[in-house]
Amino acid sequence: MELRKDPITRSWVMTGDEASEPKPRPDAPCPFCSDSTTLHVIAKAPNTPGAAWSARSVVHPTPLYHIEGEPGRRGDGLYDRMHSVGAHEVLVENPNHDRHLWRASDEEIAHFLRLAAERILDLKRDPRIKYVSLFKDYGKNAGQEFSHPTSQITATMFVPRRVLYELRAGREYFVGKERCVFCDIIQQEERQAQRVIEVRGDYLALGPYAPRVPYETWILPRNHDSSFERTGLNKPGLRMNLAALLRRTLQRVRTVTEDFHLVLHTSPSSLHPSKNLGYWKTIDDDYHWHIEIMPVVPSKAKSYTFKEVYYSPITSETQ
Ligand SMILES: [Zn+2]
Ligand SMILES: [Zn+2]
Ligand SMILES: [Zn+2]
Repeated sequence: MELRKDPITRSWVMTGDEASEPKPRPDAPCPFCSDSTTLHVIAKAPNTPGAAWSARSVVHPTPLYHIEGEPGRRGDGLYDRMHSVGAHEVLVENPNHDRHLWRASDEEIAHFLRLAAERILDLKRDPRIKYVSLFKDYGKNAGQEFSHPTSQITATMFVPRRVLYELRAGREYFVGKERCVFCDIIQQEERQAQRVIEVRGDYLALGPYAPRVPYETWILPRNHDSSFERTGLNKPGLRMNLAALLRRTLQRVRTVTEDFHLVLHTSPSSLHPSKNLGYWKTIDDDYHWHIEIMPVVPSKAKSYTFKEVYYSPITSETQ
């Protein structure tokens, strides 16, 4: 697999002719359950009495990005390509096979959030990494990969398309108004009180003004903060409020549909100031981290795709 840049949208896509993976047998034991020894464990949150770990991070069994090697970015006429160097981890949210985020306690979710923050921060220290994504796909219409409660993290040498659009837009708004567009949205939404779903301490869940899918929901900190990992690590009280709001929001989503995509948008690595974005100057002021939840409601949606990075296991040359 390799990464190719679309010269028009300037977004990277992953493509290549992949040998098909052997499918795990349906009766194979879950590899993520607590006593499994077949995993390459990277980090764990140990803070649960009587249990070896409360959440842990492992190398994805069939990673899309590999930590070894150099990107070897090169031109191909007007095109750009590079190897898929980066990291791909599975965050096991809970040792119990059926304790999904909407069934877990706030403490358990808070442990998971803290581990997520630690992993993002650690991966951002790699000078090759420009962006760390955290996402969760749940349900068969959302492309769920594992039945165990898990999220995934990818660390890439490029900023995914949707985040890039947000960074550009946040910066443009800031240049004009010297304010954060997300803070302005939050203020107006709290004032109008039409699309605010729930406020919990320093966090708020709202339905965006221009939703891409029915019941799209965002969770944001009410006080300005560009990076999730800063909040997620430093303030246990905040983490508990966020855990509670996340749990309740997912419970609400599940009254409509089982299937959803969830993605965390946080600031890119500050080791990589971008000249054409200019985001090294005002990134801490003009970007505001948030979680986006996109329920999959097949009966209501006409058509849509939700992709942070397009992935195509067949190249255009072989189709
Ligand atoms: Zn399991
Ligand atoms: Zn803000
Ligand atoms: Zn976003």
